[in-house]
Amino acid sequence: SLSPLVRNFSIIAHVDHGKSTLADRILEQLGAMGERDKRDQTLDTLELERERGITIKSTPIRLEYVRENGERYVFNLIDTPGHVDFNYEVSRSLAACEGVLLLVDASQGVEAQTIVNAYLAIDNNLEIVPVVNKIDLPAADPEGAAQELEEVIGIPAEDAVFASGKTGVGVPEILEAIVEKIPAPSGDPAAPLKALIFDSFYDAYQGVILFVRVLEGTLSPKDQILLMNAGKTFEVDKVGTFSPGLVVGDTLAAGAVGWVAAGIKDIQDAQVGDTLTGKERRTEEPFPGFKPAQPVVFSGLYPTDTEDYRKLREALEKLKLNDAAFSFEPETSEALGFGFRCGFLGLLHAEIIQERLEREYDLDLIATAPAVVYRVTLTNGEVFETQNPAEFPTRDRITLIEEPYIKLSIMLPEDYVGPVMQLLQERRGSMVTMNYLGKRVELVYEVPFGEILYDFHDRLKSISRGYASMDYEQIGYREGDLRKVDILVNNEVIDALAVIVHDSKTYSLGRKIVDKMADVIPRQMFPVPVQATIGGKIIARATVKAYRKDVLAKCYGGDISRKKKLLEKQKKGRARMKQFGTVEVPQEAFLAVLSNE
Ligand code: GDP
Ligand code: MG
Repeated sequence: SLSPLVRNFSIIAHVDHGKSTLADRILEQLGAMGERDKRDQTLDTLELERERGITIKSTPIRLEYVRENGERYVFNLIDTPGHVDFNYEVSRSLAACEGVLLLVDASQGVEAQTIVNAYLAIDNNLEIVPVVNKIDLPAADPEGAAQELEEVIGIPAEDAVFASGKTGVGVPEILEAIVEKIPAPSGDPAAPLKALIFDSFYDAYQGVILFVRVLEGTLSPKDQILLMNAGKTFEVDKVGTFSPGLVVGDTLAAGAVGWVAAGIKDIQDAQVGDTLTGKERRTEEPFPGFKPAQPVVFSGLYPTDTEDYRKLREALEKLKLNDAAFSFEPETSEALGFGFRCGFLGLLHAEIIQERLEREYDLDLIATAPAVVYRVTLTNGEVFETQNPAEFPTRDRITLIEEPYIKLSIMLPEDYVGPVMQLLQERRGSMVTMNYLGKRVELVYEVPFGEILYDFHDRLKSISRGYASMDYEQIGYREGDLRKVDILVNNEVIDALAVIVHDSKTYSLGRKIVDKMADVIPRQMFPVPVQATIGGKIIARATVKAYRKDVLAKCYGGDISRKKKLLEKQKKGRARMKQFGTVEVPQEAFLAVLSNE
């Protein structure tokens, strides 16, 4: 029998441009009706992913397409995560493909993620099938969107397929374009094995399941394999394909997309981007561009209830089994007790892990302010990296501080350019380029990564009335004039509140934290000083006034039910008081400051 012809591809788009809807429509047209339900269960495994409309982990889907002339094709549709935190994973998934469908919403046109994703595809030498989607919308301007693709990315406007994932218009043309434009995979099945890991997940029975693209050679059960970057060897238990879900097969040959189980217990040994080869018969070089998963944003996670420490550790260990990019180590804080310093790929990754801990493991957590990794050169020449303000050396021991930078791309209507540029200036950004695209503008800035951790995206959305979109990539380290600001209550340093901040912002940030802190600490029998300091020098101070009897009297004038509610709320926080000298600080005070509102 003839082996079917194969097409490996992915769909890339800006969020909400209709990727999932179009994928479902393609599934449906290829007779995979009813697969949607399975897909909901097997692919969008996390409730969170569905709620946020982003995919973090999902299995590829193997589909069969029969052309009018009777030719049979196998389509491997590989999904990609839809967020900048996971851009490396996206690039590896794309490396497993020969082509992509690049979707653009006909009513929105090219957005920031459209551009970044298109460049990831171009960097991987992929064939791009441009699709202008949602043409059924009354506000659709398909020609305009196609024109933007040409102007911004250089894809000829006449190549665009006009389609709607909602009505199904254009989907047959898309299927034909996949066959005609995207090349078949090449590779020699008799060559030494070379397979790229583009995703993985942990299975309690089989260990780590690797998703691989076989580039050269063949992979079968009982094969002895070497993971080239990890330097570890394993024996293959099972291989197979997706349909969706895992289907056991005999062998995976050059060109195939499939999965491998090899009794791998530690996900660190089988990272995305690593290359599989034969233990004896090796390929010459691993697939290029391997980057070990490396957390770039750090934050302390503490259980609200000290009793939950062990439960938290167990939950973190479970999450770690499935996530090579997440790290944690024990940390102790004067103010918050026993917890963990956790590392993430970005803020969204951090939020997802925190939400999962709260929902799936029923934990109540306090997170300290997120921090990036700083590189510090000491006066003795020693260089070290730290993400923990508590470990930051004093100024007199430092010769150089460097901080990570990103290249940030923002697409927005021209009306909002002024306020957005102002925001970027506040965040210490410097402009690289500004491109006009009709009535819209692409701004490219270099900005310290630490500056976008605090409510940047929200501010951007609110000042542009939701119209601006952004994406970014890491571009390395630059010198930064940074200081550590300490917060003191009753002359004692509160470790969990220390922050690292640019010299130009120390006073305003110190002021803000001190005021907020003074606001939430209950009055005592004596006045309590709250201070912000740099290297022992006070830069801001506030005082919690002494308790006076007539303060209570005021309560009776107000709205009693509101007061009651407030007291009820405070009770929980106050249940855990922290003693600072003679002052008791309710945990609620830390929460208020750390919530960054
Ligand atoms: P994704 O974030 O790219 O996966 O986008 P989704 O497929 O989740 O779609 C985002 C929103 O656009 C949803 O509300 C869809 O119902 C809607 N949508 C998707 N495709 C179309 C389309 O072709 N026409 C119209 N009118 N709406 C669409
Ligand atoms: Mg989606």
